[in-house]
Amino acid sequence: MTGSLLLRNVRPHAGSATDILIEKGRIARMTPNLQAPAGVAIEDGDGAIVIPGLVEAHTHLDKSLWGLPWYVNEVGPKLLDKIDNERLNKKRLDIDPARQSARQTVQSSLMGSTHIRSHVDVDTDHGLWGVEGVMRTRDAYRDIVDIEIVAFPQSGLLRRPGTLELMDQAMKAGCEIVGGLDPCAIDRDPKGHLDAVFGLCQRHGKPLDIHLHEPGEMGAFSMDLIIERTRALGMKGKVTVSHAFCLGTPDPALIDPLIEELARLDIAIMTTAPPSRPAPAVKRLLQAGVRVCSGSDGIRDTWGPYGNADMLERAMFIGQRNNFRRDDELKLGLDVCTIEGAKVMEIKNYGLTEGSGADLVLLPGESLAEAIVTRSPRRRVIKRGRIVARDGVSVRTAP
Ligand SMILES: [Zn+2]
Repeated sequence: MTGSLLLRNVRPHAGSATDILIEKGRIARMTPNLQAPAGVAIEDGDGAIVIPGLVEAHTHLDKSLWGLPWYVNEVGPKLLDKIDNERLNKKRLDIDPARQSARQTVQSSLMGSTHIRSHVDVDTDHGLWGVEGVMRTRDAYRDIVDIEIVAFPQSGLLRRPGTLELMDQAMKAGCEIVGGLDPCAIDRDPKGHLDAVFGLCQRHGKPLDIHLHEPGEMGAFSMDLIIERTRALGMKGKVTVSHAFCLGTPDPALIDPLIEELARLDIAIMTTAPPSRPAPAVKRLLQAGVRVCSGSDGIRDTWGPYGNADMLERAMFIGQRNNFRRDDELKLGLDVCTIEGAKVMEIKNYGLTEGSGADLVLLPGESLAEAIVTRSPRRRVIKRGRIVARDGVSVRTAP
């Protein structure tokens, strides 16, 4: 029976052992000592921890250099240096979005991600090359990962005329989310930029996920404009602000009112928990009722050499960045990479209960905290009830 499996002796969220019967890609029953129905394969969990699939809620599948020769990074320090360098060298470096996104997708699945939100560049040099490439991967690898695509004006929207029209085409072509970028710092026209991206959301009936690197007062100003438009356009629960470095400013007078509004309008925050930038305080946001997700952001691209697509490692980074030490705090970091990320991506039937989709990861370890710090490569990844990766080997290959 496709998508059917009996998982024996697994421990949901590192709790007590049980069996999980999966039928047609869904968790049908969770109770000890289940009998396998005829024709259903049995997988011995051996007491492994089982958690719902990891959620990679912010990456850039189109631009990874995974599998290409080592890229010697000599790029300038400014954001625009990185933006221009990438756009100008994309073809020369052979960063084919279809191939590269397939490579990162397989890697991501190996590490336990079952859902990916990818921002994909839309610009006047390359048009929809990126979007079309990642759409091919989205379709071809649907059996191992669900991918949603954010049309992303990486090179700016208004400073490069023609980009807005391409963004509109990208949405028509089937992107799920409208992207945006630093309304002040890149486009130097916060009102113009935000009216344009919110306009796309309205026209296509889609959510917004905007990159906001702007620091301190400038970022807070942009965020305030985002809040204003979210409220005015009735987009409560349909906006994500990625990075939001401004929320890492140690000034309660600046950030407290913003956090209150984020909670009220259910605006989500994505943080990679960066080691070198101010970053939003994860526990503070969650306690305020703000949805928080995380992601690898760019993996081995012309922006930076780091990344392995491991969201369990990302949970550790969240812990380190937020000074989480207690087991319950480490679990919060993992929540951001699982259940909280699923809330931001609005994944239906996500979780570890009867009726949920059977997107699961089996991990060795005694407790969730231990699983996070050891980050064992011995993982079993299940997508829609089928084992798609085992101990670092995927059922799929990439070109
Ligand atoms: Zn990004």
